[in-house]
Amino acid sequence: MFHKPNENKSQSITDGFHLVVDALKLNGIDTIFGVAGIPITDLARLAQAEGIRYIGFRHEQSAGNAAAIAGYLTKKPGICLTVSAPGFLNGMVALANATTNGFPMIQISGSSDRSIVDLQQGDYEELDQMNAAKPYTKASFRVSKPEDIGTGVARAIHAAVSGRPGGVYLDLTADVLAATLGNDAASRSLVRVVDPSPRQIPDPESIKRAIDLHASAQRPLIILGKGAAYAQADDAIRSFIEKTGIPYLPMSMAKGLLPDNHKQSAAAARSLVLSQADVVMLVGARLNWLLAQGKGPHWSQTAQFVQVDISATEIDSNRAIAAPVVADIGSAMSAFLAALKPGQIQPKAAWIDAIAERKQHNTERMAARLDGSPNPMNFYSSLRAIRDVLANRPDIYVVNEGANTLDFGRDIIDMHQPRQRLDCGTWGVMGIGMGYAIGAAVVSGKPVVAVEGDSAFGFSGMELETICRYHLPIVVVVFNNGGIYRGDDINRSGGADPSPTVLMRDARYDKLIEAFDGTGHNVTDPRSLTKALTVALASGKPALINCVIDPTAGTESGHLQNLNPQSQVGNEKKN
Ligand code: ADP
Ligand code: MG
Repeated sequence: MFHKPNENKSQSITDGFHLVVDALKLNGIDTIFGVAGIPITDLARLAQAEGIRYIGFRHEQSAGNAAAIAGYLTKKPGICLTVSAPGFLNGMVALANATTNGFPMIQISGSSDRSIVDLQQGDYEELDQMNAAKPYTKASFRVSKPEDIGTGVARAIHAAVSGRPGGVYLDLTADVLAATLGNDAASRSLVRVVDPSPRQIPDPESIKRAIDLHASAQRPLIILGKGAAYAQADDAIRSFIEKTGIPYLPMSMAKGLLPDNHKQSAAAARSLVLSQADVVMLVGARLNWLLAQGKGPHWSQTAQFVQVDISATEIDSNRAIAAPVVADIGSAMSAFLAALKPGQIQPKAAWIDAIAERKQHNTERMAARLDGSPNPMNFYSSLRAIRDVLANRPDIYVVNEGANTLDFGRDIIDMHQPRQRLDCGTWGVMGIGMGYAIGAAVVSGKPVVAVEGDSAFGFSGMELETICRYHLPIVVVVFNNGGIYRGDDINRSGGADPSPTVLMRDARYDKLIEAFDGTGHNVTDPRSLTKALTVALASGKPALINCVIDPTAGTESGHLQNLNPQSQVGNEKKN
C-alpha cells in the first residue's frame, strides 16, 4: 500500500516511512538516487510526494556513484537508496569508492527480518548488511526502532561529512519502516544536525612552521588535490598561490581550481618539478600511488614536505612531513594569508625560468601531436576536437574514464572552473561514467560531457535509459577502438574465441541511445566530431557520439604499465 503524504499526520500516528522522509527533509536533503524494490518502494514514492527529487536508476552501482559525486559537488551527503541483499551489495562498490575518495555519501538500504537473518533461517534476500558494510565505510548503523530513525539519520550525516568525508551505511529493517509511532513521540525523535562539518582551525605554530620552511626554499612547489577542490576555498587557494608565486601542480580532479592556462601551472613540466622541488606543499592531496607514494625516481629524495590535510592520521603516511598543518583547507589558507609577510616567500628566478622552459618544450611537442590528422583518428586528434569545443563552454562538466581515454583526456582537456572534472579518482575505478554524469547534471543543472573508453562505458551503459527518461543534458562520447586498452589483440592460442581484451569491432554505440529516443552520432574524423558535439550541446538533449578511433591506438594498461605484471613465459608482448 502506498502511504500518501500526510495521510497519517491528520491522525495521531505516523510510521517509519514517514519518519525517514521527515528526517531527511529536516536536514536539507533534496535528492535521492536509487533503485526501487522490496522493502523501500514506498519510501521512494513518499519521498517524491513530499518534494524530495527521486532519480531512479537501472543498477544500484550507478545510483551510488551519482550520490557520491553529488556529495563531492555539494558538500552534503549524497543519498543512495537500495533494496536488500543483492541491491545493497551492488551499491556497496560505489559506497566503498566514495569512502576511498573522501566523498560524503549515505547508502540507505532496506533489509530483511532480523530474527530470521541472524539465525540464518533463509529469508528472502537474507544478509547481515550492517556488518557486511563495515569494512568499506566510515560508519555503519542499523535502526531497529522507529523512534531511533531521527538519531540514525543524524549520526549518518555527521559521519559522512565530518573530518575526511566518506561513505556511511544506514540499515533500515522492513519492520522499522512499517512500524508506527505516535505523532508527538515522532516529532520529538527527529534531530536537526547542527554544524556537521565544523571548521578545523589550524594551530598557529603549524602555520608558522610551514611558512618558515617555504621561505627557506629555493624551488618550492604546491600540489593541489581533490580535497582542495572539495573544500570550496577557491579564492583563498588562488590568492595564496598568486601572492607567493609558487608553481603548482593540480591532481586530476583539482584541475580548474585555477584555470589550466594559469601561468603558474607546472602541469606541463610535471616530471621536472617532482624531481627537483626542494619544498613541496600538499594541499588536500595524498601521497598515494597517483604520486608514486612520494618515492622512486620521479621524486627528489631530499625534498621536504608541508601537508595541509583535515585528517591527522594522513601525516607521515608515505614520506616524512616536516610541517604538517592539520586543518580544513579554507581555514588553513586564510591563516597562511594572514601570517604571510610581503616578499617572505620568493621562488628563485632560475626555478621559474627552468619550469617555463620545460613547459614550452613539452607544450610544443604536444601541439605537434595534436595537430596531426591521422586516418583513422587517434586519441590526440579526437581529443583536440573535444578540447576546442569545450574551450568555448567553460560551464560544462567533464566526466572521464577509461585507460588511455583517461590518461590522454586528463592531459589534453583543459579545465577552466573548479570541480568540473570528475574521473576515476583514487581507485582508478571503471564504471563511474554514467552515474557521475547523471549526479553532476542533476545537482548542477549544467550540461555534462562524458568522455568514455568503449570498455569503461560498458560498465554503466544501460543508464542511457535513465539519462533519456529524465531528459538530462548529457553527451556521451565513446572512444571506440574496439577493446580494453586497444582493439587489435589476438587469441594467442590461435583458437576461435576473441582475445580477452578485445571488444566487438565496429560496434555502433550510437544506436543504443536511439532505442531511448536520444540522438546518436557516428563519427570517423575530427571535423564531424566537432560538429556532432557542438550540435549535441546546443540541443541540450541526451546524445551519444560513437567516436571511431584506430584500434591500434593506445597502450596496454594506459600509463600504468608498471602495475601490470606480465607473464614471462610464452606470451609475446603485443603492445
Ligand atoms: P588527489 O587524489 O586529488 O590527490 P586525495 O583524495 O588523494 O586527492 O586527497 C584528498 C585529501 O584531502 C585527503 O587526505 C582528505 O583527508 C583531504 N581533505 C578532504 N577534504 C578536506 C578539507 N575540507 N580540508 C582539508 N583536507 C581535506
Ligand atoms: Mg577501448
